[in-house]
Amino acid sequence: MEISGHTQMLCLIGSPVGHSGSPAMYNYSFRKLGLDYAYLAFDIKEEEAPEAVRSLKLLNVKGFNVTMPCKTAVCHCCDELSQAAGLIGAVNTVVNVNGRWIGHNTDGLGWVQSCRDSGVEVRGKKMAIAGSGGAATAIAVTSALEGIRELSVFARKDSFYDNAEATVEKIHNHIPGCTVHLYDLDEEGRLYEEIGKSDIFTNATRVGMKPMDGQSLIRDTKVFRKGLVVSDVVYNPRTTKLLADAQAAGCKTVPGVGMLLWQGVEAFRLYTGLDMPVEEVRERYFA
Ligand code: NAD
Repeated sequence: MEISGHTQMLCLIGSPVGHSGSPAMYNYSFRKLGLDYAYLAFDIKEEEAPEAVRSLKLLNVKGFNVTMPCKTAVCHCCDELSQAAGLIGAVNTVVNVNGRWIGHNTDGLGWVQSCRDSGVEVRGKKMAIAGSGGAATAIAVTSALEGIRELSVFARKDSFYDNAEATVEKIHNHIPGCTVHLYDLDEEGRLYEEIGKSDIFTNATRVGMKPMDGQSLIRDTKVFRKGLVVSDVVYNPRTTKLLADAQAAGCKTVPGVGMLLWQGVEAFRLYTGLDMPVEEVRERYFA
């Protein structure tokens, strides 16, 4: 489909964006479904986010995705937030509804859908999760909204620890069906004990990603048992040391690339009301 005077624009903002696979994934899906949309990426620094959001409104774009470091700044520029985005305090998808910006966070739902895609339902389960940054917060809040029974959050006592405390408090106050505890990630014995009582263990830290590739938070692999699901948010490399060790011990594993795919599928649905051609997109861009 050729770009015309009627073509509607969507885009990604953040910095850097040059490496992003989103323009290819969305433009392929628009072409495949015959939708008259085009998707671009714009390098926008955090302090430029409010001006960028105002400009996109003036241009009446259909919606936009937000990546680091703008996710929190753009949250403050939305006219309305989904429940998940409000609790997470960050948006990755903003939709133009009659000239109003509605902010969503599909990262956590992407993780939940990725688990479902691997045959793992989170409702009613107990999960131990390591991390308290953007990915960890989105997963903790959304899994609680999706009915997870109990969360044991393990956070390092670094600059993200305040965020861990705030997230645990928000879940405790706003999602009463989920029991949530916070532990110091350096308490290795407690981590193994909680994983032993959990259905799912998720690494939502940067450990496993360059320059920490080849590292895993789980040094004693005896903690892995059949029946435990192990998921990792890190998608580069596709198979982290954590996932390789868990697979070797017979655990079911959910790789981070699934979260990346499904957060896009959820955003596509918010923009268009349609299903992305998931299998073609997976084969082309996520194999
Ligand atoms: P962030 O900077 O917001 O948070 C980083 C987290 O890692 C913090 O909790 C920090 O305490 C922890 N951390 C860093 N170094 C650590 C170490 N040595 N030991 C223990 N903990 C450590 O980052 P983020 O946006 O949450 O991203 C985290 C990871 O998730 C990255 O690898 C990112 O690529 C990945 N990610 C994946 C997806 C996906 O769709 N699969 C989406 C978002 C992020």
